[in-house]
Amino acid sequence: MDNCLFCKIIKGEIPSEKVYEDDDFIAFLDINPVTPGHTLVVPKQHSDNVLDTDDEILEKMAKVLKKISHAVCQGLETQSFNLHQNSGKLSGQVVPHLHWHIVPRYEDDGLKIWPGKPYLEGEEKIVAEKIREAL
Ligand code: AMP
Ligand code: ZN
Repeated sequence: MDNCLFCKIIKGEIPSEKVYEDDDFIAFLDINPVTPGHTLVVPKQHSDNVLDTDDEILEKMAKVLKKISHAVCQGLETQSFNLHQNSGKLSGQVVPHLHWHIVPRYEDDGLKIWPGKPYLEGEEKIVAEKIREAL
């Protein structure tokens, strides 16, 4: 993927503040952090998002996310973090190369994520049925 920003970071063509690398993954600091230590975990094999990623990579990803989340929390002296992944334009995904955000959370960091609102009466049954049927 010649024009992919994260492929270029993986190849070292664009600098990054790398914190981890193995055969399949790289992790580096987000250039515009939500909180200090905001880290991106990126598979080296290009895929756009979760849906077109090999199952094998996704399985390995779980372990790597745990390992790096642990280090982020230990290094930055917190026990809380958000693990976040945007898939698709409407989700807010800006870089179309699969990546997970690890956002360490701090006392009074002021960050509010995903305000919720209740379903209308009966709506949840219709919504859940659509998902069940698709599975
Ligand atoms: P997303 O909205 O999920 O696609 O997130 C893309 C993230 O990549 C954003 O949080 C950006 O701040 C971050 N980002 C963009 N360019 C760079 C870069 N050169 N180095 C590190 N992070 C970057
Ligand atoms: Zn890429």
